[in-house]
Amino acid sequence: MLACSACDSFLITHLPNVRYLTGFSGSAGTVLITPRQKLFFTDSRYRLQAAKQVKGYGVRIVPGDSLEGCARYAVSRRLKLGVAGYEAGRLSHKRFLLLRRILRGVNLRDASGIVEKLRLVKSRAEQAKIRRACRIADAALAALTRQQVTGKSEEDVAWFLESVMRKGGSGALPFVIIVASGPRSAMPHGAATGRVIRKGELVVVDMGASVDGYCCDITRTFATGPLPARLKQIYNIVREAQELALNGVRPGAPAAEPDRVARGHIKAAGYGREFGHSLGHGVGLEAHEGPWLAARSRDTLAAGMTVTVEPGLYIEDQGGVRIEDTVLVGSRSPLVLTSFPRQLTLLR
Ligand code: ZN
Ligand code: ZN
Repeated sequence: MLACSACDSFLITHLPNVRYLTGFSGSAGTVLITPRQKLFFTDSRYRLQAAKQVKGYGVRIVPGDSLEGCARYAVSRRLKLGVAGYEAGRLSHKRFLLLRRILRGVNLRDASGIVEKLRLVKSRAEQAKIRRACRIADAALAALTRQQVTGKSEEDVAWFLESVMRKGGSGALPFVIIVASGPRSAMPHGAATGRVIRKGELVVVDMGASVDGYCCDITRTFATGPLPARLKQIYNIVREAQELALNGVRPGAPAAEPDRVARGHIKAAGYGREFGHSLGHGVGLEAHEGPWLAARSRDTLAAGMTVTVEPGLYIEDQGGVRIEDTVLVGSRSPLVLTSFPRQLTLLR
């Protein structure tokens, strides 16, 4: 299952990876896979939950930190770990030092990304959860269009969207909702503030829902009345860039390709420097995961991957536009899973 010719055993500590392997959704757990056993370690708070959720792994309840408990267990049982792969990018230095001290003599090797690789292509069951999350987010945006928005604060709007999504069946939101209005929309990650939304502005809303831990990610940029010509123009440029990029989301294509296409379009329109971030990312148990749709990405797209396509254009002191959809890489063509209209929608 975990393919790494250099390692004999694995210590998995990144919680989304632990969840992917075992089904455990709690906040503390470590997986140990040796040639002879598959074990899951957690503390007593999760005894009942682990018994219910964990499939295919022997559950061991240990005191305190599950990684420390796992390492001490391995030593006391004289488990043969051989070369042990661990997740260097997912472990604090302090916990690594502890691990090295307890597993003295064990050859620890960085096996970063080994589970993430398995997570790239989504099963039918995973796709179904992501689709449900997309429908929940779509419905919340539709509900927003029926609300009075001008005169309310960005925080009011964020809370409205959050409560509609939670009532609509979403689990914990994968990230804090971005509501950035007026000049603040030029901040690509402008979390909602107390700023009151006025007429004739852009409002960027970036949010996601989750179902059984699986996320979606969608951004729409709204207008609260007639816009200055320049802002209308940048909206159209971003929309065209997204359309072009979506066509490049095909199995076998380099993940850098849609980014190149979108960036080329925005640059040709004279705004190369105003599109600073990458085009998109994978979505699954994490809102941001591989594959990376970025200029320097070395990933290749494959059927069953779920990714975002989110070009943006941001002009300081004036405003910004981003349009983002969650997209399933189909066997032939891309399937856009978030379906809220992409044309400029007016909010009251
Ligand atoms: Zn987003
Ligand atoms: Zn995103």
